[in-house]
Amino acid sequence: MRRERKAKIVATLGPASSDRNTIQALFEAGADVFRFNFSHGSHADHKARHDIVRAIEQDLGRPIAILADLQGPKLRIGQFAGGSVALDAGAEFTLDRDPAPGDARRVCLPHPELFEAARAGQSLLLDDGRVRLDVLASDDTTIRTRVVNAGVLSDRKGVNVPDAVLPIPALTAKDRRDLDFALELGVDWIALSFVQRPEDVLEAQALVKGRAGVLSKLEKPAALDRLEEIIAASDAVMVARGDLGVELPPERVPGVQKRIVRLCRKHGKPVVVATQMLESMVSAPVPTRAEASDVANAIYEGADAVMLSAESASGQYPVQAVSIMNRIICEVERDPLYPALIEAQREAPLPNKGDAISAALRDVTKIIGVVATVAYTTSGHSSLRTARERPLAPIVSITPNRDVARRLALAWGVHSTVSADVHSVDEMVAAACRTALREGFVKPGDQIAIAAGTPFGQPGTTNLLRLAEIWPQ
Ligand code: PGA
Ligand code: MN
Repeated sequence: MRRERKAKIVATLGPASSDRNTIQALFEAGADVFRFNFSHGSHADHKARHDIVRAIEQDLGRPIAILADLQGPKLRIGQFAGGSVALDAGAEFTLDRDPAPGDARRVCLPHPELFEAARAGQSLLLDDGRVRLDVLASDDTTIRTRVVNAGVLSDRKGVNVPDAVLPIPALTAKDRRDLDFALELGVDWIALSFVQRPEDVLEAQALVKGRAGVLSKLEKPAALDRLEEIIAASDAVMVARGDLGVELPPERVPGVQKRIVRLCRKHGKPVVVATQMLESMVSAPVPTRAEASDVANAIYEGADAVMLSAESASGQYPVQAVSIMNRIICEVERDPLYPALIEAQREAPLPNKGDAISAALRDVTKIIGVVATVAYTTSGHSSLRTARERPLAPIVSITPNRDVARRLALAWGVHSTVSADVHSVDEMVAAACRTALREGFVKPGDQIAIAAGTPFGQPGTTNLLRLAEIWPQ
């Protein structure tokens, strides 16, 4: 089973997509990575979804990546007696520390730090900025506010405080519990929310200890000041436009997206463009023109992946959303303008053997019309460096390590496979041809280009580029 595209799709699982049939339909429609949002759901919910994804992976024989997205120091209000309330403009509304269900006059804000940091004159933005509250006064237990724009507020909506620097750690106590649980389950990627500094990423890396890739969600303006260091410390990055677009004026988000995607491509780190990509499909079976254009634009920029949140987690059309995303990506990648746009953003290879081989692999795909490239990888590094080149031909990645194979499901152009170690160049060429043929990338007579490293099975040894012709098997 192969995809007919290079860019990947991340689909968030949730109440609308927790049964085996729906998750399998999402995978078959094009989801390469499943995101578990630890802001919602119990550990039992995540474990049930995890077991289903792994069963599908086993049955269909394709590595699937699971991304555990930690809530991070996201501030959220508590719950309301009736699930939601309507707030009127000009009314007073109080946030307090009383865990009792809220009403139209008050609700719990279970974050003591915020009571210390809040000051009269600041704004609190709730539910992605839909509701704005201006702070009138605050003390240790209450923040009195005035409602600036009317709106409906429901249980556990997010709170952003763009005007204040909050004294909040990168990983909360809940994040640490969720992290242990997710690593125990065996997820492939850990997403860190509200990263502000490279130190936040390094702290997480020290806890994760290589058991998963660490993906930094860029959603705080502060992160942009140290962007390149954060990207370097991370294994992947997300342009988390939801919170980013609340904390920054929305008109700044497109430029920031382009800057992040470009820098991630320079560093060879997978980058995911996320949030509201097909938002109207939460309740409609077709996207708007603007949404189709937004997805397409991220693909033209060369993003590794585009992501669905509520569309696949709680919307009415989860499978349709993935199908349409798949169709948009395929259409962009068929556009005769696409290769030149991707190439225009390509950064020079670094002066080392591995990058030299990856760059040569890309060149031969153009010069002699190689139909597929094959990358042998122990750690996943060579496949990622090959993906960084954005070659025209697909990258069939072969690794003996199942965890590496799963993680690579996020990377642009990489068709990830697991295969036993090889011991000689002849064996390696034969296995590469067999895998490319079996996975549907080539037919007899086609040329492939293979990147590998001897001695086999050691990371960091890429030193070999081999051309081969597929023979009838
Ligand atoms: P979230 O992250 O959905 O966990 O908030 C994505 C974003 O903010 O865009
Ligand atoms: Mn967010």
